[in-house]
Amino acid sequence: MKFEGENIIKFMERFPDDHSCLKYLSEVKWSNGFTCSKCGHQKHTIRKKNLARDCNRCHHIESPTADTLFHSLRFGIRKAFMIVFEMSATTKGLSSSQLAKRYGISRQTAWAFSHKVRIAMQSNGDHPMKGNVQVDEFVFGGKETLKQGRSTDSKKKKLIGAVELTEAGKVKRVYFDKLVDYSSKSLTRIFDNHISKEARVLTDKWTGYVPIGKYFNIEQKYSDKGGSMKQMHTIIHQVKSWLRSVFSWVHEGHIEKYLAEYSFRINRSIYRRTIFHKLIERMIIAKPTTYQLIKVST
Ligand SMILES: [Zn+2]
Repeated sequence: MKFEGENIIKFMERFPDDHSCLKYLSEVKWSNGFTCSKCGHQKHTIRKKNLARDCNRCHHIESPTADTLFHSLRFGIRKAFMIVFEMSATTKGLSSSQLAKRYGISRQTAWAFSHKVRIAMQSNGDHPMKGNVQVDEFVFGGKETLKQGRSTDSKKKKLIGAVELTEAGKVKRVYFDKLVDYSSKSLTRIFDNHISKEARVLTDKWTGYVPIGKYFNIEQKYSDKGGSMKQMHTIIHQVKSWLRSVFSWVHEGHIEKYLAEYSFRINRSIYRRTIFHKLIERMIIAKPTTYQLIKVST
């Protein structure tokens, strides 16, 4: 039942129309059976046309898209499935203007929906990083300078990244967070959300990390022009060039969602076969949101 793989022909065959997508959604959504959200009754009738569940007791009708990130879509569910598939399969990312052209939808609609997919990509923090982890801060946007050190340019977005390494020293997982400043209070959030207390963490000599060392196993080394944290710096370099190449501008309030998209693809890359299904599951679990809400979110 689960769709697997990244083959677009197989995807098109599996989802030839809106009905096949609704069927998939309803199977995932009600995989443990249907319970009426209004009265708790379980007996129901399935409406043929849109596969909505009609409660036999109170006659509340629930569609497969209700209360999910597919709620009140402004275009067909099949287009939505294709966008989710593309966003899960590509390593490059797609801008909203590209999506708008490819699917014949407005740029605003494309923008809002792709942000909904990014919301589903955000980590729930259930699997903190263990083993060897590298943490470093970086900046994005504004004027690029070669000057070392912590930038105070207000146009630059201050960010922090953490990378977990495999035994062989390869990148296993990455997470990012936005920083208000370089204080311990700001820096500590990525530790609390994504790093296990047992992890062996490497940072540079910045004093902001010292207080965090009371709770986490931190080793501080001179950055040596990035030499001591090679994998972290490669990731920082890649994510910055990805942000620059795909998006002409990334609004401060939304940068976390773009970073979530980047992390999601890296972190799920060992489970590539089920990446689409996983994303559909997360889109169903997540609460619905709207263009207006995404627009003002920070
Ligand atoms: Zn009911």
